[in-house]
Amino acid sequence: MTTRTATINAGWHLDNSYARLPKSLFTRLKLNPVRSPKVVIINQPLAKSLGLDLKELQSTEGTEVLAGNQIPEGSLPLAQAYAGHQFGHFTLLGDGRALLLGEQITPTGERFDIQLKGSGRTPYSRGGDGRAALGPMLREYIISEAMYGLGVATTRSLAVVTTGEAVIRETHESGAILTRVAASHLRVGTFQYISKWGSFDELRALADYTLQRHFPDLDGHENPYLFLLQEVIKGQAALIAKWQLVGFIHGVMNTDNMALSGETIDYGPCAFMDNYDPATVFSSIDTHGRYAYGNQPDIAAWNLARFAESLLPLLHVNQSQAALLAEDAVSDFTMLYRNNWLAGMRKKLGLFNKEMEDESLIEDLLALMKKYRADYINTFLVLTFDKTEDISLYAAIEFTQWYKRWQARLGRQQASKAESQQLMRSSNPALIPRNHRVEEALQAAVKQGDYSVMEKLLNVLADPYAHTSKQVEYALLPKQSNGVYKTFCGT
Ligand code: AMP
Ligand code: MG
Repeated sequence: MTTRTATINAGWHLDNSYARLPKSLFTRLKLNPVRSPKVVIINQPLAKSLGLDLKELQSTEGTEVLAGNQIPEGSLPLAQAYAGHQFGHFTLLGDGRALLLGEQITPTGERFDIQLKGSGRTPYSRGGDGRAALGPMLREYIISEAMYGLGVATTRSLAVVTTGEAVIRETHESGAILTRVAASHLRVGTFQYISKWGSFDELRALADYTLQRHFPDLDGHENPYLFLLQEVIKGQAALIAKWQLVGFIHGVMNTDNMALSGETIDYGPCAFMDNYDPATVFSSIDTHGRYAYGNQPDIAAWNLARFAESLLPLLHVNQSQAALLAEDAVSDFTMLYRNNWLAGMRKKLGLFNKEMEDESLIEDLLALMKKYRADYINTFLVLTFDKTEDISLYAAIEFTQWYKRWQARLGRQQASKAESQQLMRSSNPALIPRNHRVEEALQAAVKQGDYSVMEKLLNVLADPYAHTSKQVEYALLPKQSNGVYKTFCGT
């Protein structure tokens, strides 16, 4: 075990505010070097925005940093402690295979956690080896960058390095480390951890830290901790609405995988829905469909209630008063979520103003999509570009009737047809990372060491609202249906 500081500084400008929090929240780590690290994919625009030099990042010493063999100047590596409800069951967790290098301060003064995922064992590893396999790390890279392109708040992926070591899963696989960039790694589970095992002062320190880091505009709010709860709820309402609007299914919405910053975090068995069906589940471990597409808003509310519970001692000296405040805040989620979702759906249908019957117009379309097993993304594309071919739904009389209603509704607003279409173009992506395309890219990379398929995919996913001709082939449907495709927990 060594901790060597790299002599080349690729532009790292790290602070370690988390390391100044109460000690029970983390464990300082020594490094677990890997044999022969090699950068296989790196995110040029992200590196630039972080103030990092791409060439130096990929140099021998730069790579040693991305592999956790050396630390960059100013880093105090640590693993974060947290707990979480996993599929409803409360457990003590923590970074079992990740290391926080510190917080990069960007040239514009923003602060981002830099975390290595797959960096070796930590005191929180439980039975795990602390490592990650190449396929799942590349998968996180693809999906997180696709989410960023889609305009959904998310952690991002700076690089993946292979370690030159095997990890044992069902078979021997190549080991890899992902560099994850996040607004922070504060989770609902971080508060659950301190609320269960920490003191009142520690809980308050964590809440003050979260406020300062993510919600500094208190604006004279008389109860800062209620403000914190309300802001987190607002952020999740906006986030989950975005997920629903692009058909994203997270797959493991455990409370430890809900970030307080409002970013999507922890891409394991996530995937995008093809044909519209609220019951869609891809994850092989989600046997009861707890985290099905249609359940995501309810699960978010459930998780937020766990967050609210952990804040109770801070909300009011009188705990029954605190419970009332918490319940009130959490109960707002449904309305906040619904408003975000409705606003997004109106845009998807080219609607600028609001009418009472919009909700039923939207729900009726979704019901038809479900009945006719219509592809979620492509149906909206068909509506956007007024292309009537290739869609079974179009043959149905019910759909013709719906279409007339929609056209009449469009006719009742001030905006022109062209303005409506422009709104639809910028609200309906030309493509999502189709499951078969993601698999194809992963196969080429993992089996043949060919990253060109993945690079091309990332390229078309970078701006899904561009509607270029190159994106058309990537929008084609997979041969398999939702029911067949399975994703496995990223380990
Ligand atoms: P996740 O499913 O990625 O959210 O992980 C849940 C928990 O399991 C977290 O505490 C992880 O750090 C831990 N974990 C996942 N994989 C490993 C591994 N290979 N070794 C050690 N801990 C792991
Ligand atoms: Mg997790």
